[in-house]
Amino acid sequence: MVRPILLYGDPILNEVSSEISGQLKSGTYVLIDDMFQTMHKANGVGLSAIQIGVPLKLFIVEAHLKEEDFHMRGVYINPNILREWGELVKHPEGCLSVPGLAGMVERPDNIEMEWYDEKWQKHKEEFSGYAARILQHEYDHLQGIVYTEHLDKLWLKAMQRPLELIETRDMEVPYLWK
Ligand code: ZN
Repeated sequence: MVRPILLYGDPILNEVSSEISGQLKSGTYVLIDDMFQTMHKANGVGLSAIQIGVPLKLFIVEAHLKEEDFHMRGVYINPNILREWGELVKHPEGCLSVPGLAGMVERPDNIEMEWYDEKWQKHKEEFSGYAARILQHEYDHLQGIVYTEHLDKLWLKAMQRPLELIETRDMEVPYLWK
């Protein structure tokens, strides 16, 4: 079932999500399935549970760049970024909770992250480039952080008016939202 996506300005997006304990319940599988449907419908590459109003440490990613042979799909439960290193890279980011906009965000190019998947298998892996960026963006959501909090003053100024339009819900959003 496609669920509505919470938009910028909704205070729930600033909540810190809670860890999921033990084995997954059937409700969590329904949630994960709903999240994939919701993300695909909105043409996103990542979605955190908090973005549909569920404050659990869970996000999903599905991103494919055919030209670069980049393919990434996963369910990330109770993720923990253990290390960040390397060059700080500035790159534009978008977010399904901030429809129609993109802003330049600076992030470290490499991370090491551990997490559980939907079969409750534990993983620990290093990521770089686009993968590291997507994971850091989604990880931020679980801490109650939207990427706009990382924008420098110039970008924040440039995006102030469009962000206000999202906050007051005076804009067209091509997917289900609330
Ligand atoms: Zn986002």
